[in-house]
Order: sequence, then structure tokens, then C-alpha cells
Amino acid sequence: MTAGPVIIVGAGHAGFQLAASLRQDGFAERIALINDEGHLPYQRPPLSKAYLKGTSGPETLVFRPEKFYHEHNIDLVTDRAASIDRAARKLTLHSGTSLDYGHLVLATGARNRLLDIPNANLEAVRYLRTLDESEALRHLLKPGLRVVVIGAGFIGLEFAATARAKGLEVDVVELAARVMARAVTAEISDYFQSRHTATGIRIHLGVQVTSIEATDGRVTGVSLSDGRHIPADLVVVGVGVLPNVELAAEADLQVASGIIVDEHLLTTDPNISAIGDCALYKSERFGGSLRLESVQNATDHARCVAARLTGHAKAYDGLPWFWSDQGPDKLQMAGLTTGYDRVVVRGDREQGQFSAFCYRDGHLVGIESVNRAGDHMFGRRLLGAGGSITPEQAADPSFDLKSALK
Ligand code: FAD
Repeated sequence: MTAGPVIIVGAGHAGFQLAASLRQDGFAERIALINDEGHLPYQRPPLSKAYLKGTSGPETLVFRPEKFYHEHNIDLVTDRAASIDRAARKLTLHSGTSLDYGHLVLATGARNRLLDIPNANLEAVRYLRTLDESEALRHLLKPGLRVVVIGAGFIGLEFAATARAKGLEVDVVELAARVMARAVTAEISDYFQSRHTATGIRIHLGVQVTSIEATDGRVTGVSLSDGRHIPADLVVVGVGVLPNVELAAEADLQVASGIIVDEHLLTTDPNISAIGDCALYKSERFGGSLRLESVQNATDHARCVAARLTGHAKAYDGLPWFWSDQGPDKLQMAGLTTGYDRVVVRGDREQGQFSAFCYRDGHLVGIESVNRAGDHMFGRRLLGAGGSITPEQAADPSFDLKSALK
């Protein structure tokens, strides 16, 4: 059990969930949630999906209305954390206010990785992580506008699909040899590439944008590393994120590609935890350190820390899962589909309903499903329990997956 106030820095998925779970778990002392965005805490996934289409207002994104924070006695503090005095257990905010903590939780998330090429600072070069960025972008999406998307990761492709559906001319430029190469198998990359191409999106692989061209401050196009030029009115950059580790680093906490925490999500300071996108945590399940960027990771980390702070400590052992909506297709992933040595396809790719079962040393490590929610839920249950089925069973359409859960 923790004595004294819990101060949470960052009111994204992880920070909000921690505050809510602490109250749900009976935590009775002060909770302050430091929110540096000018909105009630909100969900990010719709920013590149439904919200971008422009049919709903920002109120549809909030986790809870304002009265929730009053009713649950959660102090939502609009400010930004500036420094931590670990010896005095004090957090100082940009406004100059200092807050005492019994336990401090860093849920600072990640920020856009910025493009470092000529003209990258022009007004028509945009990013997509915050509500303000999505709000600004959705007003720009007018039929006929030419947009170049830099990066064919989840966010770049989700944006591209929405922009195309709204009648824009869309080119996607990606340095890797296939789309979403870091995250999914070639089977899934190929499927999504062909689906996006069929809608008229032009995908350029194995090339880099080397500069953005402009006349009188207006973007006119981009130049590629192979010498080609693509005309454009708008450039949207989706080249990944950087974890917000600076606050931790300045307080002499250990950081690498994230704030380093153990299997309990604790830093080396027993009074400070880190959760969500910013946390590089020790995973017993995967035998190494992981930093994940997903809603599942953020909310499950939060629940784990809430349990610890209310006297029910348990090592974090959540099974990663993720989704991405691209046009009419839903991609869902369970487990970690990296480091596999064999992929077995179940279902019908031509019908747009199939899954890639990924194996390492004959053991199932992850499942990527396209429009097959049943396979995904099966994967979450089976992998969550440490189970497996053979590659032959996965490939056999007559094999009843449910029987493997018994
Ligand atoms: P964040 O949501 O980044 O929140 C961190 C908060 O901390 C931010 O508000 C930040 O401004 C604030 N902060 C940082 N420093 C300070 C400071 N010093 N003081 C105060 N506040 C600070 N995941 C999925 O699983 N499925 C999806 O389909 C999906 N789609 C996505 C679409 C988009 C457009 C984006 C951007 C992300 C998407 N994600 C998706 C990823 C998911 O949203 C993130 O993994 C999740 O938001 C991580 O939550 P978090 O609380 O760790 O970090």
C-alpha cells in the first residue's frame, strides 16, 4: 500500500486509466493527474480513423466527462511537469507549483519523430498524434487535394485510407521494402498494399523523401531519393515516435529507448513508476525489455500499478494486442509477431478474411488477423494462457480452434 498522494504525469491512456483504476481499487488519498493538453483526457486511436472523417465532435473522444473527475475526487491539473526532486518527493510544474507525492507515476507517452529535411517546418507539413493535429488535418481534407504521406506504418496508412476515401490524391512514400514492415508479416503487408493500391493510393517503397519543395512558403511537392518528384499540396509525416523520457533522465532515473522499469513497472526509485508508451519494461513473458505503443499496453500497465499501489502487487505479464482500421479492413494482432521463423495462413485471403499464425521453434508466438475477429480473440485467450496449436492445426480449416482452449 502506498501512503501519501499519487501524482500522475500525463493524462493519456495510461495516466487516465491509472487514476480511474486507483479509485476503483479503493485508493482513498489524493490523486493528481497532470494534463498538459488543453482538452479533457481523450482517446487517440480515432484521431487517424473515425474522427479524421469529420463526422463527430471532440466530445466523442473523451474518456469521461468533466464531472467524472469531480465525482471521483481526481484533481485534473492543467499544467506541465517540469522537474522532480526525488529526495524531497516533490514534483514541480511549469507554473511553479510544487506537489508532494507519496508515489509518482510517469505516463508521459511519446511525441512525433520530426522530419529533418529542407522545408519540413512549413505550414502544410503535418503530423498526427494529438487531438489538435487531427482537428487541423481534418479541415484540410478536401477532394482533389494532393497529399504525400511519409511513412507506411499504421498511422500513415490509416490516414492515407481516410484521405483517399475523402477524394484526395494520395501518395505514400516508405523507405522499407514493404508497408508496416517493422510490425507485421509479409502476408499482411502484401494484402494491405494491394487493398490500398486498388483504391488509387500510390505506394512508393524503398525510397526516401529527401526534400520538400515550396514556392512562397506553399508546398508544391516532394523529391525522392531515386530522383523522382511527386507534386503535393500537403505532406503528412508518420515516421514514428520518440518516448518522452527527459523528465526521468533529468531526475537521474535510468533511461534508454524508454524509461527503464522492472517487471513491476517500478524505476530504480521505489517511489516512482513509469507506464505506457514511455516505459521500457522487463518482460518475463518475452524474456527481455519491451517498449510498446498500444492502448492495451498503456491500460494494462495502469491496472498493474493501481493494484500494486493498493496492496496487490503482481509482476506485469500482459499479452500484447493491437488493432488498426484501414479503409474497410480491420487488422488485429495478438502476441508479438516478431522473431518468428514460420508463418501459416488460415482463412481466405481473396475473400479478405484470413490470419497469419506466427511460429518460433514450432511454438505459436502471435496471430495477425484480417477481418477475422474470432481468430484474434482465440489468439488472445490461447497465448494469454501460454498455449499453442501446431502449424498443421492452424492451417487446417476443419480444425476447431475452440477445442484448443478447453
Ligand atoms: P499518450 O497517449 O501519448 O499520453 C501521454 C500524455 O502525457 C500526453 O498527453 C502528453 O502530452 C503528456 N505529457 C508528456 N510529458 C508531459 C509532462 N512533462 N507533463 C505533463 N504531461 C506530459 N493503439 C492501439 O492499440 N490501436 C490503435 O488503433 C491505435 N491508433 C492510434 C492512432 C493514433 C493517431 C495515435 C497517435 C496512436 C494510436 N495508438 C493506437 C497508440 C496509442 O494511442 C498509444 O499507445 C497510447 O496513447 C499510449 O498511451 P500513453 O498514456 O502511454 O501515452
